[in-house]
Amino acid sequence: MDQAALKKLTDTFFTFDRESILQIFDEFLSAMEAESHLPPGSLMSRNYETAQANPEIHTLPGNLKDARDAIFPYFWGTDGWQSRLHLENVKGPANNASLIGALACLLKNPNLCVDTYCLRSNELEVKAITALANLIFYHTDSPWGVFTMGGTISNLYGGKLGIEKVAPATMQKGLAGEPISGIVSETGHYSNATLAGWLGMGTENLHTVATDNQFSMRLDLLAEKIDWLYDNGRKIAFVIATFGSTDAYGIDDIRGIRELIRRKAAERGVAEPHLHVDAAVGWVSSFLAEYDIETNRLQVEHDTLQAIGRLKRATEGFAFADSVTIDFHKMGWGHYPSSAFIVNRREDLGRLLRSVDQMPYFCEADCRHDPALFTLECSRPGLGPYAVMASLNGIGLQGYQTLVANAMQMAIKLKKAISELEYCKVLNMDTIGPSVLFWVLPRGRDANAIYERLERGELSPNEVERTLFEVHRMYEKREATLQPAVDAKLSYTQSTGYKPHGIAIPAWKAAFFNPKSDEAVIAQVVESIERVA
Ligand SMILES: *Cc1c(COP(=O)(O)O)cnc(C)c1O
Repeated sequence: MDQAALKKLTDTFFTFDRESILQIFDEFLSAMEAESHLPPGSLMSRNYETAQANPEIHTLPGNLKDARDAIFPYFWGTDGWQSRLHLENVKGPANNASLIGALACLLKNPNLCVDTYCLRSNELEVKAITALANLIFYHTDSPWGVFTMGGTISNLYGGKLGIEKVAPATMQKGLAGEPISGIVSETGHYSNATLAGWLGMGTENLHTVATDNQFSMRLDLLAEKIDWLYDNGRKIAFVIATFGSTDAYGIDDIRGIRELIRRKAAERGVAEPHLHVDAAVGWVSSFLAEYDIETNRLQVEHDTLQAIGRLKRATEGFAFADSVTIDFHKMGWGHYPSSAFIVNRREDLGRLLRSVDQMPYFCEADCRHDPALFTLECSRPGLGPYAVMASLNGIGLQGYQTLVANAMQMAIKLKKAISELEYCKVLNMDTIGPSVLFWVLPRGRDANAIYERLERGELSPNEVERTLFEVHRMYEKREATLQPAVDAKLSYTQSTGYKPHGIAIPAWKAAFFNPKSDEAVIAQVVESIERVA
């Protein structure tokens, strides 16, 4: 062995040299600062051709600057979503408390599979899960859960628990032809289809139930669907309710769903379906569950205050859920991946337990401290717990109330401004989240009247097609004439999830995920609409 070469490697790559690490980090921060002066999303064009044709690897050992240089163009060419002009999706800038947490985690690089691999980091996960569970469920005796790679995986845990409830020991025996079905609303996220596919029940056995015009699952149709499935000899493993649909922030009536599935299962003498709530976006509503409307400490405006009142009542539904998905990397403004799957009752997770003899690596495992005994993943990153606890305690409950109420207030302001234009129609006027869905038609049209006729089934297929085409054409027109330095980036959804007479309704979309998106941004959005209409 060339000892000198080995020493050079260990000195450079396995010993912390503060100066060189801090210098490079400082350079990264300078790049972020430079980015803040540019319009969003226009940093550098992509070069996919060479990415595949010429993936180089250095021959000789280098130093940390080689590491920096290898990734820098891609770092620079990536939008940090710091700009207040980003309104296109449920993604915001990560907050700096989360950055501190995430950096600490990267320095120690814990593996949250078993206690002995990470010591206090597993304790931090228990703390973070309990903090989130208390926020969501209020009074719960034995909550538990784990951090996962994302909302998709958290929903997958929910689906899996349901399958184990109605077809016990599927984990060991496989589905073996069990007639398993699941139910979700039409505004539900596509990750529910992903889990139906990956869990082996098949996407065709995930049934959707239509929503009302508030984007909430229709309970009358849910009842019909349940009867139909039971009549056809199916086992209903789960109902996944949505709390805050991705586009419209539709909220399902969790308590109503609970009462329905309990009654229907009892009538048939079968195991009650698992009730999972996908609150990947909407969980942040719980920050406002204890907001005192009377004193109105944050001095939120009247409409927002009313909305908070309705939101408080909606969050009471969480108490009726068996499990919940929380994406802290969405409206928690945390780093990816910070998704949590939490159960209301700890013993539910027991259905996922492996025995220690199936895991020879972890022969000393104890399920209280060693999530590897039931998690899908083996190695698990610690970023979630670190991002969550740093954020919750840096920003604080009142800080989160301010951020969440502000996002709601900004959405309400944009909704009001848009509804004043007679050729525009806000499609989610009464949902309470950070997003605004709307139509823009050419000037002179009465968008409200057209929408109402569509809802009543009075438009001919031709008229429907032409109207929806116009909504898209106006959007394209704005895109083509967008002034990147001042006009916010919006997006376009093909379907809001509400489908009157089976018609998928597309919409323009603006989501207030960046606390810096202010009234000036809103005024400019309205101006850009007036420009194209
Ligand atoms: C984003 C989202 C998901 C998926 O979460 P990921 O973290 O992106 O995997 C699931 N459900 C809803 C409602 C979402 O908005």
